[in-house]
Amino acid sequence: MDYTSVMPAMIDQAEKDLLHTYNRYQVVLDHGDGGYLFDADGKKYLDFMSGIAVFAFGYNDPRYNGALKAQIDRIIHTSNYFYNESTIRAAHRIKAVSGMDRVFFTNSGAEAVEGALKAAVKHAYLKDGRRDHQIIAMEQSFHGRTYGALSVTGNTKYRLPFGQMTGDVQFARLNDLESVEKLMNEKTAAVILEPVQGEGGLIPATEEFLKGVRRLCDERGIVLIFDEIQCGMGRTGDFFAWQKFGVKPDIMTCAKALGAGVPVGAFLMTEEMGQSSLTAGDHGTTYGGNPLAGAAINAVLDIFEEDDLVGHVREVAPYLEEKLSALTEKYPFILEYRGRGLMQGLVFDRPVGPVIAGAMEKGLIFINAGPEIIRFLPPLNVTKEQIDQMYEILVSSIEEAFC
Ligand SMILES: *Cc1c(COP(=O)(O)O)cnc(C)c1O
Repeated sequence: MDYTSVMPAMIDQAEKDLLHTYNRYQVVLDHGDGGYLFDADGKKYLDFMSGIAVFAFGYNDPRYNGALKAQIDRIIHTSNYFYNESTIRAAHRIKAVSGMDRVFFTNSGAEAVEGALKAAVKHAYLKDGRRDHQIIAMEQSFHGRTYGALSVTGNTKYRLPFGQMTGDVQFARLNDLESVEKLMNEKTAAVILEPVQGEGGLIPATEEFLKGVRRLCDERGIVLIFDEIQCGMGRTGDFFAWQKFGVKPDIMTCAKALGAGVPVGAFLMTEEMGQSSLTAGDHGTTYGGNPLAGAAINAVLDIFEEDDLVGHVREVAPYLEEKLSALTEKYPFILEYRGRGLMQGLVFDRPVGPVIAGAMEKGLIFINAGPEIIRFLPPLNVTKEQIDQMYEILVSSIEEAFC
């Protein structure tokens, strides 16, 4: 950063005014175009983070921007006491791609998790009248920052300072079916898990595990919730990660790429759950699924269709994996790569901060997943040339940091 940079003054101001809940990159982003971002000084960055798996098709797509502008000139908000056309369409279309039957729109991922938990517990309550239900979640999981979502978040670093969590939550281990079965009893209302753990370290649930949990839940009448907030919306090469194995949840959450920048999430459920869980007065939201959010979802789903983004992920992801495999071979301090589709992690035996900082300097944006994993979340329409470009910068950043 040279002395003419406009960013330090803005960053100083931000650090005086914003609550310091993030150790942010020392960059002020100004605008984006396709797979690239530009900072306030005009420096260009290749984006391998997508605003944490949000910008599924890159920045400044005229189809998306145009749809939002048209909706802004029509109506942005109505409250949920009315119907509106864009949200009616969005609900119908998200049902079609997910195979679920009932949708509730929220403003964020955490709120989608909150709603999913409430629906599952209400369902169990209607069945047996108990008010002491338990929920089984996974160690190392991440479901959001609100108290309810935090209570099922396995990573203790997020929970520890905040005292008593809501609800009675037990933690099992992903891909260890016995650990799930052991915790099940007559109080168990639901099991919640991410088909591919994101923040927890890019760990895919195995087919065997998902099928096993589904079977245990069916046998005991327990609600199965999949959190697809990060791994959904085409990221793994299926529209939703569970679809690869045909293991369908009773309730599913979605957010991040659902609105591709407009804050919106959803929880979706089967008709059976819809008929026996939340009813009028049980749940609500002022903004959730307002017309602007609906327009964003419709534009996103249009672009997924027109550009066959899911097909593109299947085509290009093996190329990214080839590169990550090469890096694993090349450097003894890189232990492995793992993930699915365009949701991959490169696991080091040491903190990756210096590599991420070096890449940023060279115009490449990554995010970590824990201190020792670099996370790869490029826009779903990333090209092989961009993967090559990323690889070159990454190699030189690794060499500088560790060789
Ligand atoms: C990001 C994320 C959330 C939380 O979503 P917010 O929109 O930040 O509230 C929940 N679950 C998973 C798997 C996530 O990746």
